[in-house]
Amino acid sequence: LKIQFSEIPAGGLRLEIKDESWFPDHEVARVGPVVAIVFLEKKGAARVLLEGEIETMISLNCDRCLEPFSKQLGGEFSVDLEYIEPGLPLPVEHGCSVSEMDTVFLSKPLVDIYDVLRQQIFFALAVKEICSENCRGLCPRCGVNLNKGECRCPRDSKSSPFDILASLKK
Ligand SMILES: [Zn+2]
Ligand SMILES: [Zn+2]
Repeated sequence: LKIQFSEIPAGGLRLEIKDESWFPDHEVARVGPVVAIVFLEKKGAARVLLEGEIETMISLNCDRCLEPFSKQLGGEFSVDLEYIEPGLPLPVEHGCSVSEMDTVFLSKPLVDIYDVLRQQIFFALAVKEICSENCRGLCPRCGVNLNKGECRCPRDSKSSPFDILASLKK
């Protein structure tokens, strides 16, 4: 879904995207429908503000206990789209200031809405996904899922694989 900057009317352009073909189903396991709403607003001849909202459920494996779980993914986001004429240098980053908004530089006054949506899905995924803050994970000795039950391993704080080696040598 590509929108030319010139197609955006003065009052902005609102799109409700029910087509799910943009979703990266190969990389992210979805367990429900995905709905996206996008609002495009001209901020200048070469600048467009894109505000959007994505709503979906995905399935992940917990990084601690390895069990699958579902997570609501999405929320609101905004992206600043800037068209830079070919040949002109890209604006220099303004220091390390943390910006609330992502800026995307385009080589044509044209935005691929599906590209932006896909990017937002990957931004929304954390590096480590855990099923709950209280997830106890797997026992480092026997591999039992400690959310489901206790194992018989001693709970000393300084357990390491070398302890097992030491006990085997005895
Ligand atoms: Zn877990
Ligand atoms: Zn154990």
